[in-house]
Amino acid sequence: RLPAVRLAGFRTNSAGLADVKERTLIAVKPDGVQRRLVGQIIRRFEQRGFKLVGLKMLQVSEGLLAQHYCQLTQKPFYSSLVEYMTSGPVVVMVWEGHNVVQSSRVMVGATNPAAAPAGTVRGDFSLHVSRNVVHASDSLEGAQREIQLWFQGKELVEWDCWDQTLTCEK
Ligand code: ADP
Repeated sequence: RLPAVRLAGFRTNSAGLADVKERTLIAVKPDGVQRRLVGQIIRRFEQRGFKLVGLKMLQVSEGLLAQHYCQLTQKPFYSSLVEYMTSGPVVVMVWEGHNVVQSSRVMVGATNPAAAPAGTVRGDFSLHVSRNVVHASDSLEGAQREIQLWFQGKELVEWDCWDQTLTCEK
């Protein structure tokens, strides 16, 4: 077994390859909270081996949403999106791990649940694009921007796995 080598922002996995500490923003939208899906969604990310480094529940403001969805403000559905996203609290999380941005998008499924395969969050729990249960950042840059928007630095927790064989530390 290779020794664990730690550099700033990097660690080596079991194959001796450097892993950037990639992070993404996942949010359970108001319909997911109302339908008591928070636990099931968290479970999927833990089960996959990702590491939870930030978590909070909040009522979203229109201002925050406008920043979060800055590329969508001119879309015809934007006002209904704001109504949906402010209709109740959301649970917002930061997850860390190898390829977490891309893997999360696969786990969440297509924006339109009709195109999301069974086994994905949207494919298993939703029917319509306007009630699609969960948000996942769509790129590394997007994830970085969204994490900074939703979380203060001190709200994100650096922690080490006790058991090095757990997937999050491999
Ligand atoms: P994603 O959430 O998969 O990254 P987008 O960034 O394109 O997708 O859209 C953001 C959110 O806006 C979607 O998750 C969905 O809640 C809502 N949305 C997107 N397209 C539509 C639409 N045609 N009608 C209603 N709501 C939509």
